[in-house]
Amino acid sequence: MAAESSKARGKVYLVGAGPGDLGLVTLRARELIEKADVIVYDHLANPEMLGWARDGVETVYAGKKAGAHILAQDEINRLLVEKAQAGLRVVRLKGGDPFVFGRGGEEALAAADAGVTFEVVPGVSSAIAGPAYAGIPVTHRGENSHVTFFTGHEDPSKPESAIDFAALARLGGTQVMLMGLETLPAITAKMIENGVPRDLPVAVIRWATTGRQETIVGSLEEIADKAAERGFTSPALAIFGEVVSLREKLNWFEDRPLQGKRIVVTRSRKQASVLSNALRNLGADVMELPTIRIDPPTDLREFAELVQDSHSYDWIVFTSPNGVTAFFEMFFRLYDDARDVGAAKIAVIGPATAQRVKDFHLKVDLQPEDFVAESLVKKFQKEGGVENLRILLVRAEKARDVLPQELSRLGAIVDQGFAYKTVPETADVTGARVRFAEEGADLITFTSSSTVDNFIALGLPRPQGMRVASIGPITSKTVRDHGLTVDIEAKQHDSAGLVDAISQLFAKERRGRSRG
Ligand code: SAH
Repeated sequence: MAAESSKARGKVYLVGAGPGDLGLVTLRARELIEKADVIVYDHLANPEMLGWARDGVETVYAGKKAGAHILAQDEINRLLVEKAQAGLRVVRLKGGDPFVFGRGGEEALAAADAGVTFEVVPGVSSAIAGPAYAGIPVTHRGENSHVTFFTGHEDPSKPESAIDFAALARLGGTQVMLMGLETLPAITAKMIENGVPRDLPVAVIRWATTGRQETIVGSLEEIADKAAERGFTSPALAIFGEVVSLREKLNWFEDRPLQGKRIVVTRSRKQASVLSNALRNLGADVMELPTIRIDPPTDLREFAELVQDSHSYDWIVFTSPNGVTAFFEMFFRLYDDARDVGAAKIAVIGPATAQRVKDFHLKVDLQPEDFVAESLVKKFQKEGGVENLRILLVRAEKARDVLPQELSRLGAIVDQGFAYKTVPETADVTGARVRFAEEGADLITFTSSSTVDNFIALGLPRPQGMRVASIGPITSKTVRDHGLTVDIEAKQHDSAGLVDAISQLFAKERRGRSRG
């Protein structure tokens, strides 16, 4: 019976992964990625989204990089069907929309023929999103009343080409070409031959909607040469039509402050999103390469006992958001009434930790102006000292000893609750390490000493010219201890401060370049 029902659960989901920008993935797609047993993805699906999958998911790279097919189409079809027949939830992630030049139809037919149930989740196609992110509306009142999508995959000079260029020329309107950057010279020549004006505006957009987006604009006559000069390679799409001129006023995306900068985020995947999203919003091409992971502490029972007694303390001190989360997860396993936390006052080191405390609807009683342990000790002294006070310090295993030592020295009775431990991340679900080694990056961020130590331990090559940004003096010292240079250190020691520092670094360079 059990085997029957788990088999019945098997299903193929043909999911549009959108054009690249993680914000353009549908809610349904994200939900399915989170629940998937197997994810089969191709080269246009942004691999960062594999980070949403649960631990232990099986990922299969199906290739599709032009010229470097990893799996042939019939092998992919077979794989999807076999995995679903084995009772697994199979997510087939395809760039853009699965049914727009994505061979999604073939995969759906394979499932249908094998009697496997399937679902199609449309995605935001690059054919629409690419022009939009280049500041080009595919339709515009008064200028065109229809849009055509065609594939440039086929060389029009070959007799088997199925595209009727004479018909396309008569049709006019806006025309969007996917694939076939290589055939652009042949295609533009064919268009001109069929009477399309030589000065028709054309845009070619590369890596649309990502931090690497680039656009070139030119007339039909010159665009192929321009693309070749700039060394444009796939993935790119071309848009032909008067609407391209609107870009002059509507180009909103490409001049963001961190546009085109590849920035590496090394903190644990669960904590990365605030920093990653802030950088992405400024245009960065963010690569999450987690070097650490947050695990339960070695002695969970001991931690539980301290949490159980938390009402008997004068103060509870939290040094990180992870500590707050671990504390309250444990607390609500032990108690079902928030009032059981008692009258203990709460102190934190930094604003992110304060925010996490507030998320649990509790007030922070003490917080230093700058976000380091030493300042918290000073703040305690200023507020009348800690002599004979009972303090529960909720922290990571193997963290710095400044706080317990200093507070004890000032006469406090300190108990340390080890809430979690930081361990090296061993998994690389998104393949970030390989991409980092192959493609490099412009800047790497370190948000704690453990991110530095564990990054170095990975032994990855260090790209020439890659900058280092550090969250604060302690992390910077660790960077220098490993023989690296810190290019920029955050003045305010949190994610927002780090993002500010990085923006300033690149802004200064931009100014330098435009002067030079
Ligand atoms: N199903 C996809 C298209 C697959 S065909 C979709 O709906 O977007 C592959 C072609 O899509 C590429 O050769 C390129 O022309 C285009 N493409 C996909 N993503 C792109 C991107 N981010 N930027 C520019 N072109 C892209």
